[in-house]
Amino acid sequence: MRILKIQTLRGPNYWSIRRHKLIVMRLDLENLAETPSNEIPGFYEGLVEALPSLEGHYCSPGCRGGFLMRVREGTMMGHVVEHVALELQELAGMHVGFGRTRETATPGVFQVVIEYLNEEAGRYAGRAAVRLCQSIVDRGRYPKAELEQDIQDLKDFWRDSSLGPSTEAIVKEAEKRGIPWMQLSARFLIQLGYGINQKRMQATMTDKTGILGVELACDKEATKRILAAAGVPVPRGTVINFLDDLEEAIEYVGGYPIVIKPLDGNHGRGITIDIRTWEEAEAAYEAARQVSRSIIIERYYVGRDHRVLVVDGKVVAVAERVPAHVVGNGRSSIAELIEETNLDPNRGEGHDNVLTKIELDRTSYQLLERQGFTLNSVPPKGTICYLRATANLSTGGIAVDRTDEIHPENVWLAQRVVKIIGLDIAGLDIVTSDISRPLREVDGVIVEVNAAPGFRMHVAPSVGIPRNVAGAVMDMLFPNEQSSSIPILSVTGTNGKTTTTRLLAHIYKQTGKVVGYTTTDGTYIGEYLVEAGDNTGPQSAHLILQDPTVEVAVLETARGGILRSGLGFESANVGVVLNVAADHLGIGDIDTIEQLANLKSVVAEAVTPDGYAVLNADDRRVAAMAEKTKANIAYFTMNPDSELVRKHIQKGGVAAVYENGYLSIVKGDWTHRIERAENIPLTMGGRAPFMIANALAASLAAFVQNVTIEQIRAGLKTFRASVSQTPGRMNLFNLGNYHALVDYAHNPASYEAVGAFVRNWNTGQKIGVIGGPGDRRDEDFVTLGKLAAEIFDYIIVKEDDDTRGRPRGSASDLMTKGITQVKPDSRYEVILDETQAINKGLDMAPNNGLVVILPESVSRAIKLIKLRGLVKEEIQQN
Ligand code: ATP
Ligand code: ATP
Ligand code: MG
Ligand code: MG
Repeated sequence: MRILKIQTLRGPNYWSIRRHKLIVMRLDLENLAETPSNEIPGFYEGLVEALPSLEGHYCSPGCRGGFLMRVREGTMMGHVVEHVALELQELAGMHVGFGRTRETATPGVFQVVIEYLNEEAGRYAGRAAVRLCQSIVDRGRYPKAELEQDIQDLKDFWRDSSLGPSTEAIVKEAEKRGIPWMQLSARFLIQLGYGINQKRMQATMTDKTGILGVELACDKEATKRILAAAGVPVPRGTVINFLDDLEEAIEYVGGYPIVIKPLDGNHGRGITIDIRTWEEAEAAYEAARQVSRSIIIERYYVGRDHRVLVVDGKVVAVAERVPAHVVGNGRSSIAELIEETNLDPNRGEGHDNVLTKIELDRTSYQLLERQGFTLNSVPPKGTICYLRATANLSTGGIAVDRTDEIHPENVWLAQRVVKIIGLDIAGLDIVTSDISRPLREVDGVIVEVNAAPGFRMHVAPSVGIPRNVAGAVMDMLFPNEQSSSIPILSVTGTNGKTTTTRLLAHIYKQTGKVVGYTTTDGTYIGEYLVEAGDNTGPQSAHLILQDPTVEVAVLETARGGILRSGLGFESANVGVVLNVAADHLGIGDIDTIEQLANLKSVVAEAVTPDGYAVLNADDRRVAAMAEKTKANIAYFTMNPDSELVRKHIQKGGVAAVYENGYLSIVKGDWTHRIERAENIPLTMGGRAPFMIANALAASLAAFVQNVTIEQIRAGLKTFRASVSQTPGRMNLFNLGNYHALVDYAHNPASYEAVGAFVRNWNTGQKIGVIGGPGDRRDEDFVTLGKLAAEIFDYIIVKEDDDTRGRPRGSASDLMTKGITQVKPDSRYEVILDETQAINKGLDMAPNNGLVVILPESVSRAIKLIKLRGLVKEEIQQN
């Protein structure tokens, strides 16, 4: 077996609209191409031995053991690889359930599709599955050690990619609310929502968290001063920079017991509490010095440690933090009890799990000693032995939810304190003997205020009810169902995508909104080019959706990008499908026009149920997409008598129709005339029918988004298919006694589209300079030739500079074959070089005639025309 290609899908895709995370592996079975699993001696046994848990895969029989039954009865190896890849991920703790295997048009070559949670793990699982199956085929077994290593590697990928418990809680809540999110490329920034409506977070800081509040909270001494001045109970304390001042400081705070901590520490680093002697104080001072230059000396307050979480001015959760401890069982030593406790799978390193493993430090031994123990003591059953003095979870502490117990006065105080410090999300550390009584009454204090407080003690307390604190954050960031997204309009089809995308963007600009759009020519925001290039894939979509100035996204969505990585967005408000015609067939395992239609239908299917799929009623494959999408349907048609559209309107649907020379929107009983086609420059005076179709699609897409008829009209009338706005799309040049037209048409449907315009040219002879990209199928070139013969009076056949792997002369032979097949007496010649071919066409231009150039390089063609002393670029004026 050989892996030919591995692709990673990250959005709605050809295989699934709902499952966005898929690996597509193109697998050549080689010598196994004709051998199903039952014909490989020992394969079934070897597979069951290596992965007995495959028993749990139902597969098509729909019951436990179903998949293994298929293996025993005989199934192709690609299918086995699929199930093994899923199971390997499962064994590493990643729950994935979706897989598909299909044979391609190349016999023995399969597409194996598997779901993943982590990209790297998914690709790894695919490769490991091939290795495993091959090994069983060759040797009857897969070594246990290798399987263990595979699973360990997969676990490592999974762990390394985890976002941390607080961020995890936030993105989970976002997903639950249908708020899109993505990771930005730096500083662990998470974007929630799209475009201008996005909010950003980094751990539990938001883009609203004020820098002054954060800096104040990080400076414990300043925090205490500000709070003390406001009458808030805080520990009596002072700051020193020299050991010499320690004695005086202890006196100032009222003598032992005291607390010594670094001025700007966190996570309990360098803190010693309950210090009772000068020796302890000196050691604690040194420990704090490791973390910070300035040292806080504070009175020690006896009590329990609480964390009060305040979000958007409201207390949303309270947890008591209990320091790391073990409970005696009368048999085990303290050392053994620690080891046992740390076996808990919920305990990880640092902050990456619900709890943290217990680790002892310098103060632990002293603490044990005070309790009368050593590590080797066997404490009596039920005795609690504290191992750390402070209760930070990151030093092995546990959390107990106390949200329902806090006294209202303490709630009021906590909320007031957070306002005083100036934070939107804050965690207060409160030491008090009883949180259900006012601090005032029990000599409780607010020890510090934390910016970016961790959520894990609230979302996963060891004892008590988990609190949905991320929900409170979402309520703050996106109050009262305010949309987190922006309108997304996605445009696909075989031909006319760029034109329609640009036109739609232009129409939308009439509303005064900032429109971000991507096309094959580049990515734009408002009036400006952001990035040139063929930007019709998910990365370009991300650029637009991540931009905080963009209010509306219009995305040209091409076949290649959908195939390579899926859509770059979760769902769209409008999905426009213009047409499906034979082009690119045979590329990327899309071999038939039906498959191509299924691929483009992803755009219609990924529309939200309250959005619209804008479909071409005149193209039966596009019209049929109405069956597949859950969205509302809006049709456009060039045929005012379309039966489909008539019925649709009768049922209350909306449509855009070309009738009596007008582009109109029909809804219910009313026809809203937008404009006469001949007043719309893009349609070249109404002579280019396919441009009318594109304009109908764009108008309809805007209309269903509540853009007004007046705004649509204004957009249509001011959009010009000029070289600068739409290079290579029906650019017509007036050269005095003849015209030249430059167009990108390179497939049969677009040839016919241009042909419709050329046929309307009644003043003189029509010359065509034709060609097409070399990676298309032989029969496509023959078709191009046939079409050209029907359209032009004289044809010059040329080839692209880049033949895309096809031998020079082959494409032109096929095209001439097509020409002579339909019109044996056609007048034509072959000039392979594009520049020479164009020049010849222009040289022989007849009076009042039209030279149609369908070039590889539009800019070069236009340059050649301009060398002829172009009179002017013809723009239709209204
Ligand atoms: P974190 O950032 O994890 O909250 P930290 O390193 O910022 O911790 P503090 O919050 O100042 O440090 O102190 C850690 C813990 O030590 C407190 O939660 C509390 O349990 C205890 N503590 C600190 N100061 C005092 C004090 N004056 N009296 C009693 N206990 C204290
Ligand atoms: P690409 O796949 O190269 O990005 P595209 O789909 O973006 O193409 P456009 O750039 O808008 O298409 O148009 C390319 C050419 O396709 C046009 O110049 C014209 O010849 C033809 N064309 C445009 N719209 C249509 C249409 N609705 N039907 C058929 N052909 C069309
Ligand atoms: Mg603290
Ligand atoms: Mg395009």
